[in-house]
Parts: sequence; structure tokens; C-alpha cells
Amino acid sequence: MIVVMKKGANAEQIGHMVERVEELGLRAHVIEGTERTVIAAIGEKRDEYRHSLESGPGVAEVVPILAPYKVASIEVKPERTVVTVGPFSAGNCHLGVIAGPCSVENEEQTVSTARAVKAAGATALRGGAFKPRTSPYSFQGLKEDGLKILATARDETGLPVVTEVLAAADVPLVARYADVLQIGARNMQNYRLLEEAGASGKPVLLKRGPCATMEELLLAAEYVLNAGNQNVMLCERGIRTFENHVRFTLPLATVPYLHERTHLPVIVDPSHGTGHTRLVPRMAAAAIAAGADGLILEVHPNPEKALSDGYQSLDFRQFNETMSLCRKVADAVGKEMARPVSMNPRDPLPALV
Ligand code: PEP
Ligand code: MN
Repeated sequence: MIVVMKKGANAEQIGHMVERVEELGLRAHVIEGTERTVIAAIGEKRDEYRHSLESGPGVAEVVPILAPYKVASIEVKPERTVVTVGPFSAGNCHLGVIAGPCSVENEEQTVSTARAVKAAGATALRGGAFKPRTSPYSFQGLKEDGLKILATARDETGLPVVTEVLAAADVPLVARYADVLQIGARNMQNYRLLEEAGASGKPVLLKRGPCATMEELLLAAEYVLNAGNQNVMLCERGIRTFENHVRFTLPLATVPYLHERTHLPVIVDPSHGTGHTRLVPRMAAAAIAAGADGLILEVHPNPEKALSDGYQSLDFRQFNETMSLCRKVADAVGKEMARPVSMNPRDPLPALV
């Protein structure tokens, strides 16, 4: 249920209703909107207490939450969540761009990529230190050494670091270095990991499992939100289908669909979502046209030599061109994208080759 407080309900009335909800054995989740405060009352026994709560001080109405996910639902919070970390913002009119290598390989590769993507307008740096690889014989990531390199790149550029955490036990270590914890597609339904990531207090980028439905994705997000962490970004990164011209099929209808159901920002990953460098720029632009709140893109100084996912990585020039194309679409659909750092907002955009 949602206890909708009247406009102007005071802190004492809100506090009282939180106590009432908790007395009924439900969990109270307070969401302060710009207009009014609502209290989501979450638990097994729901509707039977509706009338008793409705008579509380400062209460406007009590309405059931129809969706199986609660805190993630737009029914509970009609205002869009904006996740902000330093220069990075995603949600509402803000379009965040996370870019960097699939894997952190060495300091030179990561720092040079961080500098290049920042110059082209990225607002966060990605890079895997713990890599989930299909084969145990593939490069598994530099682990803590990789995290240290990411921290160096952040010091050099000011870009916040987005990096994957593979296991619940690694959350404290990864959270010490990362600004945003990435939960990978293979781990979307690792519930202990979701709870730990939620409890870390760091913003979470939750990638959709390649076989997961929208409802499963939103229920996974609910685990993080229930740990008291409001800063969750959902990521469409492609699903497994019969198609074999792409690595995964990137369903962009996910973006407007999720915007109907949830207030959480939706990020799109056209790198994993296509698996081919040449398809990435247009799908990045298409994601923005579909309303995406952000992009996550793989960029490497020399994709041919990359230790992972080189075939879907952009080089610096290709990233620059992708950003120019994306900026045009962002302007057309009313999304704010950071300008390249070297560029005056009045200067013409670099030509698309
Ligand atoms: C990644 O971002 O490099 C990655 C492994 O992504 P996913 O979990 O979507 O496969
Ligand atoms: Mn990758």
C-alpha cells in the first residue's frame, strides 16, 4: 500500500504514520517528493490495514500498489530518480555517458582512455577489474590492482569509476575504490550480491540478465532499493535470441516500457547489445531517441589488442564520432549531454565522418 500524505503534512505526522505502519508488521519506506510525501507500506499482509491507516493524521489517501515490485514502481514515486555522482547524472533530462575499456589491462591503457573519453564528453569511466568470463581460461581481470588503476584514472580526470563486482564477498573491497557498483548480466539474480551492493550505499548499475524479463529485472532492483539504496540504474544490454548477426539482440522498446513502470533511470549498453563495433554508434543514437537516460560504451586505445571484447569496442576517434552523433539526437529529444571538455558550447559540433 501507499500512504499518501496531504500536501504540507508535517514531520510529526509523517513520523507517526511510519510508526503505525511498522506496528502493523509492515516495512515503511518514506519517499519525499517535491509535492508531497508518500510512505510505501511493504509486507505480506497488505490491504487489510488500509482503512485503519486512512484515518491517520495528515493522510490524504491509502492506495494499493498493483505492481509486484513496490519501491521501484512509478506508482510509489511518480517523479523520476536522477542518479548523480560527481559530473555524472542520469535520469529525467540528464543523459550520462559511461565509457572505458571492457577490462582494465594496465595503467597506460586505462588512463589514456579515461582522458580521451572525458575530452569527448563522457561523464563516467567504466573498466572491469573483476571479469565474468565464459571460459575460465580467458583473462579474468587484474582484480585489486585493476581497482587501483581505476582510482588513479579517476584522480587524473575527475571521472567517477563504474566497475563490476562479481561476488557478495567482494563488495567491501570494490566499494572502497568504485563510485558505482556494476552488477553484471550474469549476476542479475544473485540476491545476496544485490543485498550487499544495496547495503554498501554506493549507486548501483544493474544489468539485465540476457534471459530475464522486465518484471524479473525490476524485482532484482527491488532488492537493492530495499537495502535502503535509492541510487539504482537499470541497464538494457541485450538479450539472447535466435538471431546470430549480433552477439545479443538489443531490444530498445525496453526503454519506454521501463519508463512507464519505474522512476529509475535506464541506461543502454550498445557494445554488448550488438557485439560489433560498427553497429554501436547508430544503436547508441537510437537508444537516446528511445529515451535512454544514459549509455555505457566500451572504448579501447587499440581494440585489436584488447584482452576482452575488442570486437565491440570503439577506438578514440570512433568514440568521438559516436558522441557527436548522440549529441544531435540528445538535442532533438531534449536530453542534456555533457559537451566535450575542450569545446565551447557555442562552437559548432565536430563533423561526423
Ligand atoms: C561488461 O560490462 O564488460 C560485461 C561483462 O557486461 P555484461 O554483464 O552485460 O555481460
Ligand atoms: Mn565487455
